[in-house]
Amino acid sequence: MDLAKRRRSFRPRYTQAMQTIRMHPVDLTSTPTTSSTSEDGSAPFVLVLGTTQDGGHPQIGCKLDCCHGHRQQDRQLIASLAIVDPRSGERWLVDASPDLPEQLRDLEDCCPRSQEQATLDGIFLTHAHIGHYTGLMYLGREALGSRGTPVWAMPDMRRFLRENGPWSQLVDLQNIHLMALDDGEVVQLNDRLSLQPFLVPHRAEFSETVGFLIRGPARAVAWLPDIDQWGRWSRPVEELVQEVDLALLDGTFYRRDELERDMNEVPHPLIVESMDRLAALPDQVRAGVRFIHFNHTNPALREDSEATQAIRARGFGLARRGDRFSLC
Ligand SMILES: [Zn+2]
Ligand SMILES: [Zn+2]
Ligand SMILES: [Zn+2]
Repeated sequence: MDLAKRRRSFRPRYTQAMQTIRMHPVDLTSTPTTSSTSEDGSAPFVLVLGTTQDGGHPQIGCKLDCCHGHRQQDRQLIASLAIVDPRSGERWLVDASPDLPEQLRDLEDCCPRSQEQATLDGIFLTHAHIGHYTGLMYLGREALGSRGTPVWAMPDMRRFLRENGPWSQLVDLQNIHLMALDDGEVVQLNDRLSLQPFLVPHRAEFSETVGFLIRGPARAVAWLPDIDQWGRWSRPVEELVQEVDLALLDGTFYRRDELERDMNEVPHPLIVESMDRLAALPDQVRAGVRFIHFNHTNPALREDSEATQAIRARGFGLARRGDRFSLC
């Protein structure tokens, strides 16, 4: 296969001149970044708002050790990401999880806005599984009652929202304004931030699924919480992780024996398989891979588990709520 051609395919379509430049090593701490360009606090960044699979942790009805004794008040939030530009005060969400109210509180704590400003400048949706879009319900008249919040989505996802209640009411009452995403087409967020969707294979009952490339002035982040096996994707994941400084990748399951049901029915790449596949990449690239979207059974949810230690020992990382990465 023509690797050079495939590598180009991740670049923005509007200009071949703009490329991701790996200027700084990935920030490996979970605290605010301290790269020279971000010291004035104006550097744009992404903020991890949640890390679990769609059902959250503890998961409803689970009587296994993984959730036993855990109450909802100490739950771990569902995978979602914020993009923030402190200079303009703009902020966007990537995926709208059912934990959205709590996640907006995190965002408010991190970068408060005045009453006059809109709560969000937009939301980008990956697909129509419950962890990724049902937070939109809080934008409706029963809750926030937002006015014209831009919601970017792919064609099937837009149709799904337009044609099915209660989502159609958000459109009809103009709580949200649907915006078109197309595979590979760059959306310019402002003069220094952009986002580019890319299609991936994943159960498509209601919509297609995309991941996102988020580009800042000097660094790029990939958001890919859901995919059905790396081998079913036309693009090699190795290429993606080398093109960005931080890759937040599907880490739903750690290994095969995690579920009592047939794991073949759940075709996510296993973390152990992903680590094997990416093992030969340079240290710096592996350090930029952080797994996310953990199922409630996944021991990588717990900082004190052997799985977590094994992942870190192999040079990879794990996304945690509150992680913040500078895009400068
Ligand atoms: Zn999901
Ligand atoms: Zn459980
Ligand atoms: Zn999904």
